[in-house]
Amino acid sequence: MEGRYLINFDSRQLPYYETELLIIGGGIAGLYTAWKAAEIGLKPTVLTKGTIDDTNSGRAQGGIAAALGETDSPDLHYKDTILAGAGLCDFNAVKILVNEGPARVKELINIGANFDRCGKELAMTQEGAHSKKRILHAHGDATGAEIMRALAAQIKVQDKVELLEQYFVIDLLVDDNICYGALAFDENTGQCVVFWSKAVVLASGGAGQLYQYTTNPEVATGDGIAFAYRAGAEVMDMEFVQFHPTTLVLPEAPRFLISEAVRGEGAQLRNSRGERFMPRYHGMAELAPRDVVSRAILYEMAKTGEDCVYLDLTCLPRETIKKRFPTITATCARYGLDITRELIPVAPAAHYLMGGVKTNCHGETSVYGLYACGETACQGVHGANRLASNSLLDGLVFGNRIVDKVRNYIKLSAPEEHPHFSCQELFEPAGSFTCIKKELKHTMSENVGPLRTTQRLTQALAFFDKNSWLQKHRCRGPREMEVRNMLEVGRLIAEAAMMRTESRGGHFRLDFPETMSRWQKHIIIRR
Ligand SMILES: Cc1cc2nc3c(=O)[nH]c(=O)nc-3n(C[C@H](O)[C@H](O)[C@H](O)COP(=O)(O)OP(=O)(O)OC[C@H]3O[C@@H](n4cnc5c(N)ncnc54)[C@H](O)[C@@H]3O)c2cc1C
Repeated sequence: MEGRYLINFDSRQLPYYETELLIIGGGIAGLYTAWKAAEIGLKPTVLTKGTIDDTNSGRAQGGIAAALGETDSPDLHYKDTILAGAGLCDFNAVKILVNEGPARVKELINIGANFDRCGKELAMTQEGAHSKKRILHAHGDATGAEIMRALAAQIKVQDKVELLEQYFVIDLLVDDNICYGALAFDENTGQCVVFWSKAVVLASGGAGQLYQYTTNPEVATGDGIAFAYRAGAEVMDMEFVQFHPTTLVLPEAPRFLISEAVRGEGAQLRNSRGERFMPRYHGMAELAPRDVVSRAILYEMAKTGEDCVYLDLTCLPRETIKKRFPTITATCARYGLDITRELIPVAPAAHYLMGGVKTNCHGETSVYGLYACGETACQGVHGANRLASNSLLDGLVFGNRIVDKVRNYIKLSAPEEHPHFSCQELFEPAGSFTCIKKELKHTMSENVGPLRTTQRLTQALAFFDKNSWLQKHRCRGPREMEVRNMLEVGRLIAEAAMMRTESRGGHFRLDFPETMSRWQKHIIIRR
């Protein structure tokens, strides 16, 4: 089938590893699942594309949401999550998230994750669209780094997880809708290798790199969604991309995230005329859902002709800012901005993909032996728009629920010969195609961004058609493979966005601005 694989190969000719459980990705979802799987006696191998430090998880600032406060409850967390999800949350998945979340967070505390405290009590803040202070944070605004540190340390002490860094997974090996493992490129040796595995967990993160401006690191190119889709797995909700409203806009700086928690502590958004504008757009003002704040910022930018608006923290005490947001303070200072005195120029950037590989509430995909969790998966817990700080929690809760299913699957799967996998039909490429990446990012940003129209989406789809010839050519290394994956995922987002002729959550159509009851359903795509 054309476009099924990215390279020519023959599984009989390649060196191979055999493992009981292959986990693709070493972010919060991958590491947590590996830890829990090892705890019940499984022997997981974790592959990461870059190093263990190259993840979205390690960059998470604001925190992790859990109903642990005295005046809070899972029911209130449930209501907030459902409301933010704009009619598309899976009720059962949300119930699981809010009810099992607190226990998962307590596990992190038990293994030494050092969340901030006020005296002996856990310190909690509020973020957009949360009705309670329920966001735990660590070292002010370095929550993800602290959780990842604790998980990595736990796995090291446990000494049962094999962690292999710099292994780029190219494609899944699926025959007759059963997953037997994966084909990978070992960047340490420059060789392709096969990983045979009884079960595979996909925890390969998001796809923010499809856009020109993103908070995501370089590794977030949507590989897992692309190779799962190529292997026949169903993907769901791909049109729902979350744009974070407030990322730093300075000429020399990357689009560094200015956490929502900053607004949670009282910071206000102002346009270039100094006017506070959010109360005009939503009753919750600066703490409205992210899509609402992002669009309001874009409208204000268009009105004033500026490429940013401003986040004003100067109403907060200097010492509070420094203590609560040390990473943000230091990063802005590196670019000459003193956020205790000056306004921060900000604009929206691609941040999170609500869609992904479709799973049920046990992480099972439509392919036997293939499971998914974390940002790459979609069981509908975030609906059309993720509530802030629910994503780290989602990685833990649904990672945990995979483990029992995987154990049973492995127990039941008969030992058998591996099927033979090969592909020999791909042509030599004429020249490098990494240059297409720039065009792709431009296309996605202009045409499949926060404000979409039929005309823009038509242009995006034409771009993907124009580049479909690449499917006939083999990739010569991970960077070309990433471009192919980005094209695959970009097309899925554009196709679903074109199909959904309404606006809802992270998907906004200027030509269909209303939310329509007939569209209260998911778009599921299968190759
Ligand atoms: C700047 C920033 C701030 C955020 N703040 C928060 C927050 O405060 N609270 C919150 O809940 N969420 C936050 N998020 C979102 C959250 O961090 C992510 O959604 C979550 O961490 C995703 O975890 P993950 O394990 O699914 O993926 P990741 O942590 O991104 O890990 C993906 C892993 O997959 C590997 N991988 C990818 N492709 C391949 C391949 N081809 N072969 C092998 N390995 C591969 C990568 O190497 C990596 O190890 C934030 C995100 C960003 C970017």
